[in-house]
Amino acid sequence: VRHMGWPLQNIAGVIESYSSATASAERLLGVQRVAQSVEERDDATELTDVRGRVTYDDVTFAYPESERPDDPTVPTDGGPVVEDVTFEVEPGETVGIVGPTGAGKSTLLKLLVRFYDVDEGAVRVDGTDVRDLTVDSLRDAVGFISQDPFLFSGTIRENVVYGTPDADEEAVREALDRAEATAFVETLPDGIDTQVGERGVKLSGGQRQRICLARAMVHDPEILVLDEATSHVDNETEALIQRSIEALIEDRTTLVVAHRLSTVRDADRIVVLDDGRVAEQGAHEDLLDRDGLYATLWRVQVGDVQSLPSAFVDRIER
Ligand code: ADP
Repeated sequence: VRHMGWPLQNIAGVIESYSSATASAERLLGVQRVAQSVEERDDATELTDVRGRVTYDDVTFAYPESERPDDPTVPTDGGPVVEDVTFEVEPGETVGIVGPTGAGKSTLLKLLVRFYDVDEGAVRVDGTDVRDLTVDSLRDAVGFISQDPFLFSGTIRENVVYGTPDADEEAVREALDRAEATAFVETLPDGIDTQVGERGVKLSGGQRQRICLARAMVHDPEILVLDEATSHVDNETEALIQRSIEALIEDRTTLVVAHRLSTVRDADRIVVLDDGRVAEQGAHEDLLDRDGLYATLWRVQVGDVQSLPSAFVDRIER
C-alpha cells in the first residue's frame, strides 16, 4: 500500500475549513488518498438505508500505466492484477480474503471503496454498482482500515473523531476502550490530547492501528473493509488488536484481507486468491478438506512444512 502524500495540516483546521460533505468524502483519507481518476457521475445516486450486501461480479482490473510503482522489484507486466473475480458477502457476514503476496487481495478492497474503478464487471453494494453511487455516500457506508494506518498531525482525540466531528467525549473514550487503546493513551504526556503524527509523539504500528480502529468504531460504518497489518507487532499487542477487531466486525458486513490465517478461521467464508483469480472459496474446514492452496497456506502457518507440494513453497508468506 502506497501513501500518496497527505498534506500535513493541523487537523482541527481541516475539520473547520472543509464542508461536511467533503469531510465525509475524505473520511477514510486518514488512511490513503483517493486516486484522482475516480469520478462521480452527474446522475449518481445516494446510497441510503444500507443493508450491507457486497457483490464482486466478474471483476477484472489492471492498474493504470501512470500508477505503476517505480520500484523495479515490483512485478508489473501491465496485465490484470484481478481477473474474473466473483463472490458475494451477505449483510452482516465476514468474508476473509487470503492468498500469496501479490495475488490482488488489497486491490480488491480498493475497488470497493473506489480508489480505482474496475475495467470489466462490477462491484456492487446492495445491488447498485459503486460507480453509480455518490462517492460521499459510498465512503460513508464503507469504513476502510489500511495495512499501514496513518495518523494526521493532531491530537489523538482529533484523529479519532476525524470524519465524525460531532462525536462526543464519551463516544471517543468508549471507542478507545473498545480498541484496547486506553491503557497506552493514558501513559502519554497529555492523554487523549497528546499530539501525534509527524510533529507529535511517535506511536508504534500496533498503536496507530488501534487509533484507527477507534476511528472506525466512532464512524460506525455498515460495511467494514480491513487490510490486516503485516508489520511485525509483538504477541501481546497482536492479541489486543485481534480482540478489538473482533469487537468491530461483529454484526456488520466485513471484508478482511488476512495475512494470519487465524484471523479468518471463523469467517463465514474465505475467498482464496491466486494470481488475481479466485482459486477456491468456502469455510475453513471445507477448504482444509479440499487440500488445495488454502490447506497449503494453513500448513505453512501452523508449521507443518513437511507435507508441502514444493511448487507452492517459495510463493507463500511465512
Ligand atoms: P496482495 O494484497 O495480495 O499482496 P496487491 O493487491 O497489493 O496484492 O497487488 C496485486 C498486484 O498489483 C501486485 O503484482 C502488485 O505489484 C500490483 N500493484 C499493487 N499496487 C499497484 C499500483 N499502485 N500500481 C501498479 N501495480 C500495483
